[in-house]
Amino acid sequence: MSEERANNFIRALVDEDLASGRYPKVVTRFPPEPNGFLHIGHAKSVCLNFGLARDYGGHCNLRFDDTNPAKEDVEYVESIKEDVQWLGFTWDDRLYYASDYFERLCQRAEELIKKGHAYVCQLTPEQVRQYRGTLTEPGRDSPWRDRPSQESLELFRRMRAGHFAEGEMFLRARIDMASPNLNMRDPALFRIRKVSHHRTGDQWPIYPMYDYAHCVSDAIEGVTFSICTLEFEDHRPLYDWVLEKLDWPEPRPRQIEFARLNLEGALMSKRKLLQLVKENYVDGWDDPRLPTLAALRRRGVTPEAIRLFCERIGVAKKDSWIELEWLEKAIRDDLNPKVRRVMAVLDPLLVTLTNWPEGLVKDIPAPYFPDAPERMGFRDLRLTKRIYIEREDFSLDPPAGFHRLTLGGTARLRWSGYLRCQEAKLDAAGQPSELFCSYSEEPQGQVSAKKRPGIIHWAPAELSIPAVARLYDRLFVVPRPTGDLARELNPGSLVERANCRLEPALADLKTGERVQFERLGYFYLEKGPTATEPGLFNRVVTLKDSWAKAKKKEDKRGPES
Ligand code: ATP
Ligand code: MG
Repeated sequence: MSEERANNFIRALVDEDLASGRYPKVVTRFPPEPNGFLHIGHAKSVCLNFGLARDYGGHCNLRFDDTNPAKEDVEYVESIKEDVQWLGFTWDDRLYYASDYFERLCQRAEELIKKGHAYVCQLTPEQVRQYRGTLTEPGRDSPWRDRPSQESLELFRRMRAGHFAEGEMFLRARIDMASPNLNMRDPALFRIRKVSHHRTGDQWPIYPMYDYAHCVSDAIEGVTFSICTLEFEDHRPLYDWVLEKLDWPEPRPRQIEFARLNLEGALMSKRKLLQLVKENYVDGWDDPRLPTLAALRRRGVTPEAIRLFCERIGVAKKDSWIELEWLEKAIRDDLNPKVRRVMAVLDPLLVTLTNWPEGLVKDIPAPYFPDAPERMGFRDLRLTKRIYIEREDFSLDPPAGFHRLTLGGTARLRWSGYLRCQEAKLDAAGQPSELFCSYSEEPQGQVSAKKRPGIIHWAPAELSIPAVARLYDRLFVVPRPTGDLARELNPGSLVERANCRLEPALADLKTGERVQFERLGYFYLEKGPTATEPGLFNRVVTLKDSWAKAKKKEDKRGPES
């Protein structure tokens, strides 16, 4: 892999622990909850966990944290496996599920009860809240806190046998109701949930809480570094407490927290992503406008680009926002040396070359990779009497500084000669429907260096290939969406160009291939053409940072009045 390898504080801690002999090797895990598709934030965690294991010659487990049956589903399990593999990582035979540990988690809970470190509490959920206290006030002990262990043990076994209703009682740790850390105020370990689980069915009427299941699962798997996001920092004392009270043998896993990825322009909470999908604001979890890995893949982003992005943003201990430009830059930098440059017209305007003989086809060799022609070879462009140019490249009423085609003006065709526009046929709405131009190998008349004609892309009319292109813009009009969809969604986030024309050499393009359409961006052939349907292209990314430009313009214009 060629991506640069950032040093980060986690590597420093790992180095320390290996040097001191605390751990013989590095074992990490990636622990997704199967309640949604993975997004680019998860990719940061995947790259970090699997990347550390790879670089230190250890291993990384894939563990589904499936302790909350109500929201989880096998569909998500499958998509997560696919996405991790697609990113380029492997868990070999170490695919685990927290639900596989339910039995052991139960036995360990009994151990805590017997040692007096846990008890069955019969406060109602409302009472539990009242007893908990606040950040400034200590909590109060539950009246059940000092019940005999034997009684708790029996109740816990009956909870497990399904004898009680949800909310009637729960198992909680016996720590300290006055702790300044609310997580340590006798947190729940097991609760009654009469919900079917996607793997264990109706076998379990009780489910372990995340904080209890996670540390024990890590310990069972021999994980050394349990890397998680910052919001778990205050849970670390509980993580350590559980393993300590279980007398778990050393070396116990070490929890290390890092800052989650916040990406501007993207909504990453799974709950909000689910809402976008369920309420049909987007076309499924893999809609190319979403920040999910399935969406980025469908859009045409490569796993290399995502890994490069994750390397570049690094890993820090402080929360921050990353601008979307970073992701787009990584995508461009990845594709730039890999793909051929070709021509496509997305919004065609017919041009007839008035002085070109009917039936003449001129083959013009053009390099696929102009910066280093030998790298990708040449293809023939086919110039004919009728061609298409981009509607945008002609203006009846050119603004100042417009260097492309105008009535009476001259523009150069990419890799060939010059057009001079003699006449524009207009439709009923006054828009040009066809241009008539003379063609010459050299510019006609005097051309000063300053007023050099602009170069425009083109495709031959009859010999070109029809295609559909989807142009994606940001899903939200604000950089940091909150999820207020009515106000924040960008109505122009998807523009479909149904009548594109591709240069003839693209007849051999295969589904899943990427190209650069010159001047337009990098494109990905999501669905190849069939006998009845043209090929469908997604724009992976534009060539320039259009958003930064728009922002600059906006700044100049000032706030909208
Ligand atoms: P969400 O808030 O989107 O529902 P989550 O944290 O609940 O995400 P999990 O499935 O529990 O999702 O996450 C699996 C792993 O990915 C966890 O270790 C979590 O810390 C990490 N992760 C989730 N979101 C991000 C993010 N934005 N940046 C970095 N790591 C993340
Ligand atoms: Mg989570």
